[in-house]
Amino acid sequence: IEPKRAGLTLSEAIAGGWPLRDSTAIYVEGDLRKTDGSHVPVGITYAALFDREERIVNVIANVRDMTRLREADDLKNTFISVISHELKTPVALIKGYAGTLRREDARWDARTIRDSAASIEEEADRLTQLIDNLLDASRLQAGALKLNLSDVALDQLAQHIVEKFSVEAAQHPITLNFPPDYPTVPADATRLEQVLSNLISNAMKYSPAGTMITIGGQLTPREVIVTVTDRGIGIPLEEQSRIFERFYRVDDALTRRTQGSGLGLYLAKAVIDAHHGRIWVKSVPGQGSTFAFALPRE
Ligand code: ADP
Repeated sequence: IEPKRAGLTLSEAIAGGWPLRDSTAIYVEGDLRKTDGSHVPVGITYAALFDREERIVNVIANVRDMTRLREADDLKNTFISVISHELKTPVALIKGYAGTLRREDARWDARTIRDSAASIEEEADRLTQLIDNLLDASRLQAGALKLNLSDVALDQLAQHIVEKFSVEAAQHPITLNFPPDYPTVPADATRLEQVLSNLISNAMKYSPAGTMITIGGQLTPREVIVTVTDRGIGIPLEEQSRIFERFYRVDDALTRRTQGSGLGLYLAKAVIDAHHGRIWVKSVPGQGSTFAFALPRE
């Protein structure tokens, strides 16, 4: 029954005879307000028990906690809005460049053609990245991440990633700071490359052009620790634990202007968790952030 149409309290329903003779149950959905002020979404089925004279003897209420269902629903909505928002920009750009290039009334010089093709390629890469992240995120829901372990030298991996970022490094110089003879750790090189790339690209996205990014390596007897430090906008303390949640983005002017799905750190944490490591952030708004992860040496 729809709550709107029902409009009866349970005691009114009982006093007036059960509103439904044939179908015996009433179903309502809503929020239970707890004494501490929090809410629990619930679905309640009321079923009446009648005696032979058709008088109500008892009403059985079956209360179902709908938190998980509601969460799944919210997640689906976020998923759809992220996909549509994040897909639109690259697709619009690709279409724009392609449309311009194929105009029959225009003759483009070699440079324009090259630049446009480069932009198309860049946007296609961005799309691939987004699709990969979405696939990873949905696979993670189904179960833990599988790792492909080998001996990984994190200092060399960092060096290799920095070379890949050479174009972006024009805006954000990157310094590497690893001690000599940095040990290898048993790890999944591809996954760790994904984590480090993500931390570096965040450091670039959320800091002003010209500011330095530092990648550092430290050692403790049991762990290797890698840090990525920027001098960017920073993250307010109350947001610092939430940024590792799926689809979570800090709501500020810069984040709204920068592209992102809020999946990068969620996936980074999943990868580090799968290695039995830890990942955390230290940040002062207005001064910058240091993201760090630690991996066991054995
Ligand atoms: P996104 O795709 O939005 O970058 P992430 O999961 O990588 O998603 O990051 C989640 C949020 O954490 C970002 O939207 C941003 O608000 C914040 N964040 C991540 N890295 C940094 C950083 N280096 N400096 C400031 N804020 C950051």
